[in-house]
Amino acid sequence: MKIQERQETDVLVVGAGPTGLMLAGELALAGVTVTVAERQQVPSGQSRGGGITARTCEILAMRGLLDATSERAVAREAVGGHFAGLPVPLDTRPWRTRHPDGLLIPQDRLEQVLETHALEQGAIVRRGTELTGLAAGDSGVDAALTGPDGPVVLHSRYLVACDGGHSTVRKLTGIAFPDGRGQ
Ligand SMILES: Cc1cc2nc3c(=O)[nH]c(=O)nc-3n(C[C@H](O)[C@H](O)[C@H](O)COP(=O)(O)OP(=O)(O)OC[C@H]3O[C@@H](n4cnc5c(N)ncnc54)[C@H](O)[C@@H]3O)c2cc1C
Repeated sequence: MKIQERQETDVLVVGAGPTGLMLAGELALAGVTVTVAERQQVPSGQSRGGGITARTCEILAMRGLLDATSERAVAREAVGGHFAGLPVPLDTRPWRTRHPDGLLIPQDRLEQVLETHALEQGAIVRRGTELTGLAAGDSGVDAALTGPDGPVVLHSRYLVACDGGHSTVRKLTGIAFPDGRGQ
């Protein structure tokens, strides 16, 4: 039987979607060692999200990421909002923001910006690496990962579930997912 290698990091983020990548960048910026495990070998190139709001633009600007995001955005008329890509007239003047119209940007392009930023801050992004099991103890979490180099156990002080709506972490930890009707 192959002995699993054991590695360490402060924080393991599971999932390299926009949530995991943004968090990884923030943690690395704060001097925390962070590893992101993402089961997809390469970004899918698919885009569910199509746009970001004024507040998201403000946060990206605070991190110096708005220019790179704007360069990848889709040109459109300034309409103030959208639903499923369709313009929605919205009076944003009361928001007093520099970015009242948000940006129309496919999610995968924004993920490129966030992943580049996270890597530049020192985060490690391990693609093709799937979380398959975990065990919590007093000193943190042992995560079983299956990646290109085989199985590995990564010990972290904290593990953050950024693995989407069908979260493996949620299922492994037995956290319920009530459907809004209390079921
Ligand atoms: C049709 C549709 C339209 C949408 N439109 C918009 C929009 O216009 N604007 C907007 O802001 N949002 C929109 N959204 C919502 C947006 O897509 C989600 O909020 C966003 O994807 C959530 O990001 P996330 O990082 O939390 O999760 P996800 O994007 O789901 O990323 C989770 C990641 O975890 C990885 N993963 C899962 N399991 C494991 C595992 N066991 N091990 C390792 N990795 C794993 C997955 O491969 C994935 O890359 C839309 C969603 C849908 C479905």
